Amino acid sequence: MSWGDSCGSHETSPVSAESPRVGAHVKRNNKPPTEAEARAVMLAAGFEPFPTVPYTTARAPWPGRCLVCGCEKDLAPSYWNVLNGQGACKECSRAKRANTRKRSLAADLHARAESLGFLPSIPYEQVGSRAPWPGVCLRCGQPISPWPMSLKNRHGACAYCAGKRVDPAVAFGKMVARGFIPSVEFPGSLQPWPGRCAKCNRRNAPTYSDVVSGGDGPCPSCARTGFDPSKPAFVYLMERTHAGRQEMQIGINQRPR
Ligand SMILES: [Zn+2]
Ligand SMILES: [Zn+2]
Ligand SMILES: [Zn+2]
Repeated sequence: MSWGDSCGSHETSPVSAESPRVGAHVKRNNKPPTEAEARAVMLAAGFEPFPTVPYTTARAPWPGRCLVCGCEKDLAPSYWNVLNGQGACKECSRAKRANTRKRSLAADLHARAESLGFLPSIPYEQVGSRAPWPGVCLRCGQPISPWPMSLKNRHGACAYCAGKRVDPAVAFGKMVARGFIPSVEFPGSLQPWPGRCAKCNRRNAPTYSDVVSGGDGPCPSCARTGFDPSKPAFVYLMERTHAGRQEMQIGINQRPR
């Protein structure tokens, strides 16, 4: 955007057919505005030319004061520029552009949060991009605080839903539901978790990850397909008929079949 008086020489005809931004209120003749008219246009744009500085030409810098921010240092927009919709004050225009950018980023992030099932507890504008954004995951109900920019980069919002994080209380409940009573606090998904089998009362320390991902369950002694190396076992040879054919099967088990 040009703030200077760089547009050339048509000082007495501020309005031309090539000026798409000139509004309908502009006089469609070649007569220059009177000083009062020019001042009125500037005032309407939030700019007050100094009373001691008279209007000269449409494209001449006209020093004065921004009525919005109060700034008057190096502030001298031309009547022509203001008439064409360029802000009178550089500072205010810059702030306005930054504000517009910020608002559209906030709108984007809120839309993205909604699509990810993340309900922020405060608006993005109050958090900014450099802090975690507190809220709740509507899919699993956990309180979460994702980084705003990580949402923008198309990552998920919730580490719990992504399986990267486990709530200790939920982990405890899942172990109990699978027949294992932990005796200490949740040590993490991949660490052995001491406790006892709810069925046979034997002590054991399976990992949370192994137990919830299926497999043999938390107790090798009780596992139907599991094998407890501390107990005697049988090697067996079984003969059976399968699909009309005789088959021999060899296996190892801790209970005779
Ligand atoms: Zn200003
Ligand atoms: Zn979640
Ligand atoms: Zn057991």
